[in-house]
Amino acid sequence: MSEASEVLRRVFGYEEFREGQQEIIEHVVAGGDALVLMPTGGGKSLCYQIPALVRKGVGVVVSPLIALMQDQVDALRALGVRAWFLNSTQDPDERRTVEAAFTAGELDLLYLAPERLRLESTLRLLDRADISLFAIDEAHCVAQWGHDFRPDYLALSVLHERRPDVPRIALTATATPATHQEITARLSLGDARHFVASFDRPNIQYRIVPKREPKRQLLEFLRTEHPGDAGIVYCLSRASVEKIAAFLVDNGVTALPYHAGLDPAVRAANQARFLREDGIVMVATIAFGMGIDKPDVRFVAHLDLPKSVEGYYQETGRAGRDGLPSTAWMAYGLQDVVQQRKLIDGSEGDAAHRRRLAGHLDAMLALCETVECRRTQILAYFGQEATTCGNCDTCLSPPESWDGTVAAQKVLSTVVWLDRKHRQKFGAGHIVDILLGKKTPKIIQNDHDTLSVFGVGADLSDAEWRGVVRQLLARGLLAVEGDYGTLVLTHASAAVLRGERQVPMRREPARTATKTAKAAKAGRAAAADLPEEALPVFERLRAWRAATAKEQGVPAYVIFHDATLREIATRAPGSLGELSSVNGVGESKLAKYGQQILDVLAAPQD
Ligand code: ADP
Ligand code: ZN
Repeated sequence: MSEASEVLRRVFGYEEFREGQQEIIEHVVAGGDALVLMPTGGGKSLCYQIPALVRKGVGVVVSPLIALMQDQVDALRALGVRAWFLNSTQDPDERRTVEAAFTAGELDLLYLAPERLRLESTLRLLDRADISLFAIDEAHCVAQWGHDFRPDYLALSVLHERRPDVPRIALTATATPATHQEITARLSLGDARHFVASFDRPNIQYRIVPKREPKRQLLEFLRTEHPGDAGIVYCLSRASVEKIAAFLVDNGVTALPYHAGLDPAVRAANQARFLREDGIVMVATIAFGMGIDKPDVRFVAHLDLPKSVEGYYQETGRAGRDGLPSTAWMAYGLQDVVQQRKLIDGSEGDAAHRRRLAGHLDAMLALCETVECRRTQILAYFGQEATTCGNCDTCLSPPESWDGTVAAQKVLSTVVWLDRKHRQKFGAGHIVDILLGKKTPKIIQNDHDTLSVFGVGADLSDAEWRGVVRQLLARGLLAVEGDYGTLVLTHASAAVLRGERQVPMRREPARTATKTAKAAKAGRAAAADLPEEALPVFERLRAWRAATAKEQGVPAYVIFHDATLREIATRAPGSLGELSSVNGVGESKLAKYGQQILDVLAAPQD
């Protein structure tokens, strides 16, 4: 057995490497440079942690996630790894202690905030230590056009200049070709070996449902599929975060808000509760999540449309890192398209920047509107091929498509009539009202009941018309303009109006058909589909874990993952030897908790 496999088993308690890990680890152990592209939850940390343990010297990990360093270090220490960090949250005394341990070679891993590299004292410190490797986590932070750009990351080139002898491994879950190139150039990794893992996360079920009453839909999703589970609900604005969190709490869900406008102490406390307690739902803006490596997040829900497929995939990837079934659920509607298009129009930056944003949004919309396998489409976006997955909504209940050409012409000609005849522009709601022949005050006041298109759309429902408008917007056959989101034609509209272009559309699923039984089952709570007799044992183990975690002030998953507790509950090991063969039970945890686990298992049932 290689030294790396031995460390995997002894320290981490894992039986097998995940896809890609072994190759990367062996390459770095041998002193090679590496650039690793692996999806969120793919298992990147082991790719530098194991080489740091195998090689001589201290592994230096540069990470932008200062708020999470304590947890990362706690998790490693629970495994018996000698880890510490250096960042601005420490007082000088503590920093001196860490620095002394570092130069004395008494550490296995040192986590370093990137801004420390701007200090000459840090560079001198690095000169003095025996270093096994430099790991650059969240390497996409060096990409200036990316969404997580950190100026401090530009200083990372100094590592290689000062210590060309030390191997470097850069890791990221952002895999678009543009980011890949930028990381390579800025970190001078042209000669490094590039490892591109499959971006598939097969345990995550992807579902995108039409948005009708988002709050009610969300609540139903939580109640039927994820009661008592930990999860993240993403919203676009701070106001909607507050509103949704309050709504969930009113309905008996343990939910907390998180956004950049909250008092830093409240934000930190909410994050800590999410990490430490079981079954908390975090309602958040995208300010939340990077580096959150809680393995048992069972669902990620989006109530607003993400700005790009990269963003969506990174956010949804926070579900199910432990490999157990999880759900990525999104409610998406006409208003999302209008809102995002408006945001792009109003955004700062030049025309090229806006074009780039529009390109990102178009790819996201194409994913929402597809009638094909969502996963195949996501992976194609990252340049990877896949066969249909059987675990997304479009695979589970294939949507019908219909010829929407005539419907499209009705919408477009209404827009033309209003504009040409009346020099007026209106939003989607009013256009749909005209087509449906509704005598609303606004219609009567503007004499729109005299238009030739008034009432020509009685064949479709309100929701169906909104679907038509949404799909036209998503495909650039219609555009929004100005603060009120008024509809205007695009250069592509003419071909549809002239009947030269067909417009196949996705049929809006009926209200009740948004979820199949199979879909509901796939992502159920952590305790689900355990054998009946194992269920009470699993619950007792969880209670023991919660108490132990609280006592030690660490997140529950630092003690053991759900996946490990499930295996213990089903296999019911009778000795320490048997327990040690459970996935996730390494040497250190066996010594620390082994007897306690056996006691929990042997305790009389009540
Ligand atoms: P990433 O950084 O790529 O998002 P992590 O390194 O946090 O992912 O790993 C995700 C989860 O998978 C972690 O909880 C980790 O303990 C677990 N994991 C990683 N490698 C293995 C493995 N070989 N076997 C079992 N679990 C693993
Ligand atoms: Zn699929």
